[in-house]
Amino acid sequence: MEGDSVTVQNASRDGVDAPVVLSVQGLQKIYTVDSGDVEAVRDLTFELRQGELVCLVGPSGCGKTTLLRCIAGLLEPTAGTVLLDGAVVTAPPKKMAVVFQEYGRSLFAWMTVRQNVELPLKNAGMPKAERRKVVSTALHAVGLEHAETSYPWQLSGGMQQRVAIARAVAYEPEVLLMDEPFAAVDAQTRADLEDLIRRVWKDLGITVLFVTHDIDESVYLGERVLILSNSPTVVQEDLTIDLPAERDQLATRSMPRFTELRTHVYAEIQKAKRGSGADA
Ligand code: ADP
Ligand code: MG
Repeated sequence: MEGDSVTVQNASRDGVDAPVVLSVQGLQKIYTVDSGDVEAVRDLTFELRQGELVCLVGPSGCGKTTLLRCIAGLLEPTAGTVLLDGAVVTAPPKKMAVVFQEYGRSLFAWMTVRQNVELPLKNAGMPKAERRKVVSTALHAVGLEHAETSYPWQLSGGMQQRVAIARAVAYEPEVLLMDEPFAAVDAQTRADLEDLIRRVWKDLGITVLFVTHDIDESVYLGERVLILSNSPTVVQEDLTIDLPAERDQLATRSMPRFTELRTHVYAEIQKAKRGSGADA
C-alpha cells in the first residue's frame, strides 16, 4: 500500500510547448481573525499551460478554496502573485469563470435557467441573437435544453450544478476554476458530470483547474494532479496522470494503472494529513 513502491512520474513542464496561462508564485494567505492569525496557505507555486486539465487534491481544510479565491481575484493574497497570461490578477479577470460547490447560492432564483446562463454574456455585451445561440448550445451540452424556462428551485441539485456549468462554459473562459463542484450531487450524476467536464474541456480547448478532496475523481479527471499538504499548505507533489486520454467510467477505473495512481495519491494524502508533507 505504500505509494513509494509505485513508479510515478513527477510532472515536469520542460519540453511541453504550450504557453503558460496561469502562474501561481509563492502564494501565501493569512487570515486575520479575532483569535489571531490563521495561515491557510503557506507557499504555493505551480503553473498551468494552455489546454491542461489539472486537478488539485488535498485534505479538507488545507486551503483549496482559499487558493481558488486568490486565483479568481476574489481574495487578496498576503504574499506572492497570481499571473494570468503574464498579468497580475488583482480583481476577477474577464477571461476566468468559476464554478463553486454551493450552486444553490450561485444561481439567481428569480431568473429562469436560460436567463441565468445568459447573464454574463449580456454583461459582456454580446448581441442578443448571438446570445440566444450560445446559450442554446451550452444548455444542450449539459443536457438541459428542455429546462430552459424552469427556475433553479424547480430543479434537482445535480441539474442546478449543470446550469452553473453551462453558464461558465457558455462564457468560454480561457481558464475555468472549479471548487469541488460535484461534492453535493449523487454518485450517478457525479459520474455524468465528470464525463461532461472532460468533454467540454476537450471541445473548447480551455484550461481547467479542478479542486476536489476526492482522490479517485482527481485521478479520473486530471492530466496532472497537484497534491496539497495539510494546512499551512504547500504543493507536496505534482503528479502526471499517464492514463489514456479517452477516459471511461468503467474501463479507466478498472485499469491496474488507475489503481496504482489512486493508491499513490491516497498514500500522499495520508502523509499530508500526518503533517509530514509541509513541516518535515
Ligand atoms: P479547503 O477548501 O481545503 O477545505 P479552506 O480554504 O476553506 O480549505 O480553509 C483553509 C483554512 O483557512 C482552514 O483552517 C479554515 O478554517 C481557514 N479559513 C478559511 N476561510 C477563512 C476566513 N474567512 N477567516 C479565517 N479563517 C478562514
Ligand atoms: Mg473548500
